[in-house]
Amino acid sequence: MKVLVANLGSTSFKYGLFDMQTETQLARGGIDRIGQDADSQCVVTIGDHRQDVQQRIPDHAAAVRMCLDQLTNPEHGCLSSVDEVAAIGFKAVFAGKLSGIRIVDEDLLAAMDALADVAPAHNPPYVRAMRQLREAFPAIPLVAALETAFHETIAEEYRTYAVPYAWRDQYDVRRWGYHGASHRYIGTRMAQLTGRNDLKVISCHLGGSSSICAMIGGESRSTSMGMTPQSGLPQNNRVGDFDPFALRLVKRLSGKDYNELLDELASQGGLLGLSGVSNDLRDIEQAAANGNAQAELALKVYTADIKRYIGQFLAVLNGAGAIVFTGGIGENSRRIRRDVCAQMDYVGLKLDEDRSQAARGEMKISADDSRIEVWTVPTNEEIVVARQTVAAVTST
Ligand code: ADP
Repeated sequence: MKVLVANLGSTSFKYGLFDMQTETQLARGGIDRIGQDADSQCVVTIGDHRQDVQQRIPDHAAAVRMCLDQLTNPEHGCLSSVDEVAAIGFKAVFAGKLSGIRIVDEDLLAAMDALADVAPAHNPPYVRAMRQLREAFPAIPLVAALETAFHETIAEEYRTYAVPYAWRDQYDVRRWGYHGASHRYIGTRMAQLTGRNDLKVISCHLGGSSSICAMIGGESRSTSMGMTPQSGLPQNNRVGDFDPFALRLVKRLSGKDYNELLDELASQGGLLGLSGVSNDLRDIEQAAANGNAQAELALKVYTADIKRYIGQFLAVLNGAGAIVFTGGIGENSRRIRRDVCAQMDYVGLKLDEDRSQAARGEMKISADDSRIEVWTVPTNEEIVVARQTVAAVTST
């Protein structure tokens, strides 16, 4: 069975095509600037063949059509016909109580639409694209793997805010948790790498969006993102955890209304807002190395928040067998790994600096006598979504 996994941004579309018999990726590609005036850059890699095309792409349905054209191209394509695509899977973000892995239908789209204010950067492009694709490719089932599904195993006390009870009961205001596909992958992969099915793992997904998850035996027990993906750790340009009562003061002093302030926190906050440099950690590290004090502060705040969550989760899990760094920052930033793991002798954690410096791919980077293992493991959210997509279409 062949499955296409789609990763959508408001103006971008990335995909992977998987043969699920062997769980191999047959092709991957990406298209940017969708719906904009400029030409889109359309890149597809099929096996060793890479093709680049510049062309105007009006919407996501056209982007998928373009990708299917490339995949069925008689010269370099890897599909004999579009009919070979058994389903398209999406790493969808939020549909409230309609969580889990679901065939995309009007109920789901309506729920995602209605809850766009929870995930404003994610839900609207997904709903728009899924609607276009349902219309353009009615024969291909679309499957949504909701990011919140993985966290349904979290106990009530770890997912409930101390808000008036009616907020929880009537409005579903609670910690939902996100990055489910990534944390699920890390849980499964660590069981394979260590040969232990009961391992306590603290998974640190540090990237454009960052979250930390405490897991036992691959099940989520607590996670840093709460009601919305704007919460938890500082994000690239989103605020992370924050006291909502500060808003009243800033509203009075700035003359801006609540919506403006929330938009500011969701687009001009986080690492970008604090550093004043960039939303990209590489730029911030560079600026800090050149003596930029604001950039240095942003790195310290980010590190401190990661440490605080790890401390919380060590308490939640009653210790841990492994801490895993994944995501663009987790896999690549030696400084962040070094500073997060510093002063953790209270739990017997010792990073091996040389191993961490040399880390590539899946690697244990703790010292041999460290009581908690530390690993870098590249995440693979797409294969998780592909597996879930197969499960959804074969169970219907
Ligand atoms: P997304 O969450 O958008 O998928 P990624 O997981 O690719 O993002 O992570 C992007 C982040 O990873 C960026 O902040 C980028 O600066 C950071 N990053 C990538 N490579 C490095 C590196 N070598 N050193 C430090 N940070 C890096």
